[in-house]
Amino acid sequence: MTDLLATAVDALGGDERAGQVAMAEAVAHAFDTGEHLVVQAGTGTGKSLAYLVPAIARAVETDCPVVVSTATIALQRQLVERDLPRLIESLERLLPRSPRYAILKGRGNYLCLNKIHNGSEADGPEDALFEPTATTALGRDVQKLTSWASSTDNGDRDELTPGVSDRSWSQVSVSARECLGVTRCPFGAECFAEKARAVAGKADVVVTNHALLAIDAISEAPVLPEHDLLVVDEAHELVDRVTTVATQELSSTPLAVAVRRITKLVEPEHVERMESATNALASAIRDGLAGRIDTLDDGLAAALAALRDASAAARRAIPTSTSDPAAAAARTEAIAAIDDIADTCSRILESFRLEVPDRTDVVWLARDDVRGSAHLRVAPLSVAGLLRGGLFNRATAVLTSATLAPGGSFDAIAAQWGLRSEKIENTENTEDVQWRGIDVGSPFKHAKSGILYVSSHLPPPGRDGTGSAEQLAEIAALISAARGRTLGLFSSMRAAAAAAEEMRERLDTTILCQGDDATAALVEKFAADPETSLFGTLSLWQGVDVPGPSLSLVIIDRIPFPRPDDPLLAARQRAVTARGGNGFMAVAASHAALLLAQGAGRLLRRVDDKGVVAVLDSRMATARYGRYLRDSLPPFWFTTDRDTVLGALDRLTAGATA
Ligand code: SF4
Repeated sequence: MTDLLATAVDALGGDERAGQVAMAEAVAHAFDTGEHLVVQAGTGTGKSLAYLVPAIARAVETDCPVVVSTATIALQRQLVERDLPRLIESLERLLPRSPRYAILKGRGNYLCLNKIHNGSEADGPEDALFEPTATTALGRDVQKLTSWASSTDNGDRDELTPGVSDRSWSQVSVSARECLGVTRCPFGAECFAEKARAVAGKADVVVTNHALLAIDAISEAPVLPEHDLLVVDEAHELVDRVTTVATQELSSTPLAVAVRRITKLVEPEHVERMESATNALASAIRDGLAGRIDTLDDGLAAALAALRDASAAARRAIPTSTSDPAAAAARTEAIAAIDDIADTCSRILESFRLEVPDRTDVVWLARDDVRGSAHLRVAPLSVAGLLRGGLFNRATAVLTSATLAPGGSFDAIAAQWGLRSEKIENTENTEDVQWRGIDVGSPFKHAKSGILYVSSHLPPPGRDGTGSAEQLAEIAALISAARGRTLGLFSSMRAAAAAAEEMRERLDTTILCQGDDATAALVEKFAADPETSLFGTLSLWQGVDVPGPSLSLVIIDRIPFPRPDDPLLAARQRAVTARGGNGFMAVAASHAALLLAQGAGRLLRRVDDKGVVAVLDSRMATARYGRYLRDSLPPFWFTTDRDTVLGALDRLTAGATA
């Protein structure tokens, strides 16, 4: 393994890195023994090579593919367009045959030719949607997509530039439930999704995303090629992505679509019954307060039961299969929509049959104040059982990320994944899955290259989310000392915008704020001009990769605890507390710790980068959990001394501009 890795690193023009070698050996060991592996590998480790080299070697040796799952399109692209082609070229002479790789996404990511040619108009509000003269933005998008269908090789949405809205894309794509099935579909032989599956079926390395991985774990019919080895990169995102896939919703748009879809297929009495049931549900939730629902009131229970029964009756009334492709597509889409409603109503009603401590689902009412709409959502309290049964009992998994060990321990995340059972600490536990966690560190010298500064003199952040006068003065002083070069990571868009407005008044360097332009364009401007600062919120915490002096200061306005009214995380916290654990530490603090580590990880992107991470939340220095949060970050040199930090930024800036 070490030789293969050395050959690959050499061919790709890199240097040997101890962490990368340790990780590759651990991955190979996991593949040999079947013991799951959790690897924290800091920025600069070169972790994709450290898992791809053993994955390729193993897949070629056993003729059984390795599935590699990522959270972001950026990493997916990096693997498929850069890492895998170069790696394979460098390794093929050392392997018994040339390895093959493929990318596979969920069906809804590919154009559906049947929908384009035989699609029903039930989803579009305008009758003229598919007319060549359509003048709406939606109509124009559909025309564009229809003509793209005849030129694209793979129908993959991510290859369409510029892209289109979800609403436009939904006019030319289907979910797995809405697909006619390859044998019944008149376009089965040309289907983009089926072709991608066929190519993936012959590949040694199949690159996919966490959403499809979750669908594969949940569904009875496999959607990924049979595999016994799995690599989950960006694994810190796994719980959220799987939770999203396992969440269902009742809201006005899909309900209206379902009614439209059945209109031409069933007797008017069924349509009227569905309309009346959807109206009753809308009335039952219209004035409800947003938040978790622990007790189902009679009115809402009756509305859900009526909608479930109306959906089931309409489903039974849909005529049996037809050979006409357009009619078959309309029928399949109607069934998918109506089944989804019936399933969601049943799931919500079922969840309330159990007492609160025994419930496995959380139900809440969400409001969209801009649109004035309300939706009911149901999500799993925990995805641990799902991951354990659907992933870890089926394949040997390697889970990796730069941030997996909040407070220096893998326990919290392993419990969320179902590797370690979420029982009280120190309890004898015979159900644990066999796994091991390693931290291979980072090639960066954090203590020499970076300072972690906590403004312990500032008052604790207030509840309204925007910064105090003292905090704004601190931001101005830090940015002045750094002469721009600042990435401001805020816990809310409101706080970011307020701070940006204030700094534009006070400072003579440029302040960009998320929302002023597309985020990618803002990051490009920020990287191009060192004296520019960029403020923003969540997507910047994880998505900015700007090496060099343009990013010398990361400001974090407050510890990113989840909002106390986040229904799912609050329910998860309550469940851990009810079992005798520390719900705050297991859920809120570990969530904040992982985000902090991600945010602080924006600072050093190259071995020669230097700078400061400034956390403007005094609780990080004074609260009992402050130590735990600091231990979750890379090992920067720590100080609360303001003058020391301002001096260091001054010297750094002088060095950069000299
Ligand atoms: S097989 Fe399914 S996804 Fe493919 S073209 Fe037919 S309906 Fe669309």
